[in-house]
Amino acid sequence: MMNTSIPYGRQNITDEDIQAVVEVLKSDYLTQGPQIAAFESEFASYVGSKYAVAVANGTAALHLCTLALGVKDGDKVITTPITFAASANCVRYCGGEVVFSDINPETYLLDIEKVRALLKTSPKGTYQGIIPVDFAGRANDLEAFRELADEYGLWIIEDACHAPGGYFVDSMGNQQNCGNGEYADLAIFSFHPVKHIAAGEGGMITTNDKTLYEKLLMLRTHGITKDNFQFQNSLELAVGATQYPIPDTQYPLWYMEMQVLGYNYRLTDFQAALGLSQLKRAESGLERRKEIARIYFEAFKGHTFVKGQSGVVEGHAYHLYVIEVEDRLGLYNHFRAKNIFAQIHYIPCHLMPYYKEYGWKEGDMPSSEAYYSKCISLPMYPTLSNIEQEFVINNILEFFET
Ligand SMILES: *Cc1c(COP(=O)(O)O)cnc(C)c1O
Repeated sequence: MMNTSIPYGRQNITDEDIQAVVEVLKSDYLTQGPQIAAFESEFASYVGSKYAVAVANGTAALHLCTLALGVKDGDKVITTPITFAASANCVRYCGGEVVFSDINPETYLLDIEKVRALLKTSPKGTYQGIIPVDFAGRANDLEAFRELADEYGLWIIEDACHAPGGYFVDSMGNQQNCGNGEYADLAIFSFHPVKHIAAGEGGMITTNDKTLYEKLLMLRTHGITKDNFQFQNSLELAVGATQYPIPDTQYPLWYMEMQVLGYNYRLTDFQAALGLSQLKRAESGLERRKEIARIYFEAFKGHTFVKGQSGVVEGHAYHLYVIEVEDRLGLYNHFRAKNIFAQIHYIPCHLMPYYKEYGWKEGDMPSSEAYYSKCISLPMYPTLSNIEQEFVINNILEFFET
């Protein structure tokens, strides 16, 4: 019997992490200081993108993406129902319409064939974008999505919150890291404590597009720029109309312009320090997640009570390890009685009362709904011990086989 409880996910804060945060607290910068730039550049090199923009959380990252892409009233954007609501909500923040499309029951990811079929039914120009989610840590084949998106003139935001370190192999045999900006216009990550890299709260946007990158920087801070080359107002106005003759040909150092409607979506410097410190362990954490996945897979292989599972998949980042079982409620309650706190990911987004108001209803997404009726996410985090995992596995076997 375990005397501690086992959650489905848990952060791991080391003394080194704490030291990194304490150092920033003693420094001159609490927000947007040198740790932000360092975190952005390390993160960009980890995923292989040209640019990275650190923001307050993953939801803010999604919102800035839809803003930067110019989503507006009436735009139609396609996403999966098997995701956290924020993946869809970012479209609504800008007045766009969310169009759910069903998952592939094997991969649990947005089914590209269903997206293709959906796009075919309307004239080109009806839809503006696609938001594929690397659900559970499994990478989407973004090369295929890019090809389809180009055919219809769509943008792609990759929601890679579950998948730092994940990848797919493209048609040339090259490894394409989640968030590397090769095929998606923008990708987003979250540093919520259950995710791979914990910063308390926090998010990151990665891209290879310089124009989008510069828009994101402005939108993150109220739509303000301090870049001389971007100023729109005259030097006379900047200096102050009464200050003639103008003593200098430079814009004064205090001068800045708010040019678009932005937000305060900045990340603090001490959170960036925590993220940066955690990022150093990302690779070893990922290896441990893969090992845990292999052990689950081996344990359930050949057992008929398992109707589906995340499995052993190349490039999977294993934010979650999902199994599908018939008596899901029974297993969930059995777990709770043993202090194992499994979780369900996700209640299909189209069945949330908010989205039902837009006409979505039960039966619209058969594969997602069938998946939801059986799915349960097992404990999965790098500090889960072998003994704890064995306890989880034994409880599952015991529940189904006795
Ligand atoms: C966590 C998560 C988000 C939102 O991130 P926050 O940092 O919590 O705002 C968005 N999409 C997915 C798939 C997530 O798992």
